[in-house]
Amino acid sequence: LCYRKGKTPRRPALKKTNNVEKDPVGVYCRIRPLGAEDEECCVEMISSSTIQLHAPDGLKANRNGEYKETQYSFTKVFGINTGQMELFEDVARPLVEDLIQCKNGLLFTYGVTGSGKTYTMTGSPGEGGLLPRSLDMLFNSIGPFQAKRFVFKPDDKNGIDIQSQVDALLERQKRDSQQSVPKTPSSRQKADLEFADMITPEESRKSKNIDEDCSYSVFVSYVEIYNNYIYDLLEDAQFDSVRPKPPQSRILREDQNHNMYVAGCTEVEVKSTEEAFEVFWKGQKKRRIANTQLNRESSRSHSVFTVKLAQAPLDADGDYILQDKNQVNVSQLCLVDLAGSERTSRTRAEGSRLREAGNINQSLMTLRTCMEILRENQMCGTNKMVPYRDSKVTHLFKNYFDGEGKVKMIVCVNPKADDYEETLVMRFAEMTQEVEVARPVDRPIYHLAAGRRHRNQPVGEPLCRRIMLIESLPALPPCELVDPTDDQTLPRLIEVLEQRHRIRQMMTEQVKFMLQQFDSQMSSKDTFVHDQQSKLNEKEKVILNQKTEIERLEKKSKTLEYKIDILQKTTEMYEQDKRSLQQELEGQEQMLQKELSERRRMEQRMQGVVTDTKLKWEKECERRVNAKQLEMQNKLWVKDEKLKQLKAIVTENSSGGSFPPEPPKKPERPSRERDHTMPQKRSASPTALPVSDFILKNHHNHSDHYCTSTPSTSSPYPSVASCISEWEQKFPIDSGSQSRLHGTPQNQNRTPAPGYSTNSVDRRRGQRWAPDTEAPTNDLDRNTVPPVRPTHRRSRSAGGEKWVDHKPASNLELDTVMQPIIPNAIKVSTPNEKALSKCHKYVLRHQELASDGEIETKLIKGDVFKTRGGGQAVQFTDIETLKQECPTAPRYNISLKYPGLIMLLRCSVSLQMYFGVLFMINKIEDSI
Ligand code: ADP
Ligand code: MG
Repeated sequence: LCYRKGKTPRRPALKKTNNVEKDPVGVYCRIRPLGAEDEECCVEMISSSTIQLHAPDGLKANRNGEYKETQYSFTKVFGINTGQMELFEDVARPLVEDLIQCKNGLLFTYGVTGSGKTYTMTGSPGEGGLLPRSLDMLFNSIGPFQAKRFVFKPDDKNGIDIQSQVDALLERQKRDSQQSVPKTPSSRQKADLEFADMITPEESRKSKNIDEDCSYSVFVSYVEIYNNYIYDLLEDAQFDSVRPKPPQSRILREDQNHNMYVAGCTEVEVKSTEEAFEVFWKGQKKRRIANTQLNRESSRSHSVFTVKLAQAPLDADGDYILQDKNQVNVSQLCLVDLAGSERTSRTRAEGSRLREAGNINQSLMTLRTCMEILRENQMCGTNKMVPYRDSKVTHLFKNYFDGEGKVKMIVCVNPKADDYEETLVMRFAEMTQEVEVARPVDRPIYHLAAGRRHRNQPVGEPLCRRIMLIESLPALPPCELVDPTDDQTLPRLIEVLEQRHRIRQMMTEQVKFMLQQFDSQMSSKDTFVHDQQSKLNEKEKVILNQKTEIERLEKKSKTLEYKIDILQKTTEMYEQDKRSLQQELEGQEQMLQKELSERRRMEQRMQGVVTDTKLKWEKECERRVNAKQLEMQNKLWVKDEKLKQLKAIVTENSSGGSFPPEPPKKPERPSRERDHTMPQKRSASPTALPVSDFILKNHHNHSDHYCTSTPSTSSPYPSVASCISEWEQKFPIDSGSQSRLHGTPQNQNRTPAPGYSTNSVDRRRGQRWAPDTEAPTNDLDRNTVPPVRPTHRRSRSAGGEKWVDHKPASNLELDTVMQPIIPNAIKVSTPNEKALSKCHKYVLRHQELASDGEIETKLIKGDVFKTRGGGQAVQFTDIETLKQECPTAPRYNISLKYPGLIMLLRCSVSLQMYFGVLFMINKIEDSI
């Protein structure tokens, strides 16, 4: 289906396609004849398309003759002898043809003032210009096919509405009653130009391409653009000559087809050339009056006369116009008389008029710029913005260049010398030819049969003639023969009969012809009917297709609706889920919060408890430490006492009893209050035995390992001091501490108390093993030493027992000191099953640093027995401690003096590991 909208130039659809046919802008040059007063002609037409400018003599003289002669080429050049008719035929007639064919056209005249623009466009009496000629041709062509007034009605959006004959009639009547004085050509003032004055009837032209099955209507509008303001020249407002009001300016709008139009501009429906010209003249008069009143220069304004042609097809019967706005076609032809193109300086204008003139020049300048950019865009493929909006003239015609249409420009040239320099700027006009405008496309014609307008007419005439012929049959004369000699009747009858025969033959021929005509008509009708039928069938098919398509779409929409329903339900479900989950989440969050606060409270409580407990334990520890300290100090005190006693005994012995023993000075018992002063006091009080004495006396027994623990003077035991000196010989120490060690004993006296000595010395001599049969010889000792348990003894003679002597490799070699010799022993550095299986007893030598800084050797003894699984187990039964003390060395410097002890410390750690290993072996064997 092809619908056509009631609209003017259209093109958006075309704009996108590149294969649009384009025509260059037609630029014509018209040279007017020289005026009577002008003598020098500086324009020469050298061919039908070229002119040459000759510099006038005066100018040549000024510039020393170095002046170039300039040539310009145009689509066509019209010389001074060109008549208005010839120009019309070449330039305007094709545009009018296009207008009738629903195509838009734009024609403007360009040139300096006095170059003949107005002459070319409007003309003078007897020499009608392009405008009256175009109107004449248009009305000659559409004359009998025009619609009744007001059937077509302009809407306010540049389109044309269509209304019924009745509505149109009513509107006509209303209009007539309003216009009390009917306007007839005779009532017009004689001062106005009449169309009849412009063109002679012989010069009338008519288009042959008119579609008779359409109805036409012409609307004209006339606007003036002055100082970049648009004024409606056909406005009905009366011009107040006493107090002239400036006319209301109009604005430009764009319609739905991107065509620009003057909003609210008066469009007058005209039915004849005379009427159209009358309207034009009315506008022209108004323009003249306004220019005079407002002191304007008429040559500075552009005038735009628009002829709008609306056409709509007749209905199938050919009686009425099809009442369908979409079927209305509108095309327009704009005839523009541009303002003078001369530069401002030439006009000697001043003040506001100079400014106005500047604006006018500005608009022409914009026109030039637009043309230049358009050309550049088209030729170079650029996409520069064309500044149509910079002036009203270019903005109004924007879509002719951007869209489609036919554009023509007549450049008017006055060959007089004064205009030479103005004519020089003709380069623009020449360039404009290179601008191309999309050719308006042919509109497809509606799907209605041709010849509708004459459908009811053809049969009438031949029928009448036939009746006439029948009526014209001559009457038969009386044919009674009464007289045999009557020789008139028969010939008369014969003549009449012959006449009748001839008439009948004629009638027969006519009828034959009519029948033939009828036949042909019938056949054409048949074909038409056939055509229509096939079209109908096609349409039906289309309808059927569309129906199925509609059904399909309906089904689709139903399924979609169903889907939407489902989705909505799902969404609801999900939302419900979401809500419940949110609630759950909130509940859990609350619980979590509660738990958190509970935990925090708990933590605080625990912290309180911990600090309480800590405080309590700190106090407890302090208390215990103090108690231990006290205990230790007590012990020390006891030791000191014993030492003193011993010293006393020694001194007694050495003096041979000549001096009575000094009563022992009772040392002060330590108390808590004096704890901190104890070390100083203690370090001064203990006195060592004279070392030399000990060594001399005990040396011979040194190698003997089995002796009594009796601390008598004759006993062969080495003293602690001698042991230390031995140690020091083995591990040399620094001279300072040595001197201290050796220096002090000489000045010190020792008087150990006899009552305490045994216990103390016995412990100090731990390195020696007393044979279990030997009893202490000293009476004093015998009295005080408690009976020794046999389990603590190892007897050489016991014989039968076999020992595993476990001596870890980490043990420090102390030579003879604190090294018990066990007979019958298998010495191992790591316990193994083989050794264990051969023995009954097990002893582990364990060295460690005692609390007073001395080396302490522990003998951990146990019985070996077989396990059920066939392995060996050791059951620990006893621990024997061997400890050595140095009476002279300061207690707390021991680690400095004997660096080996630090090693011992480490060994004790590794020993613990041995224990661990042993236990492990036992455990495993047990389980097996
Ligand atoms: P414009 O409108 O360009 O200012 P006009 O059309 O008013 O110029 O022309 C000025 C004068 O020149 C008018 O009197 C007009 O009759 C005359 N004229 C212009 N062109 C021609 C022509 N081709 N033949 C005869 N007279 C002309
Ligand atoms: Mg003019």
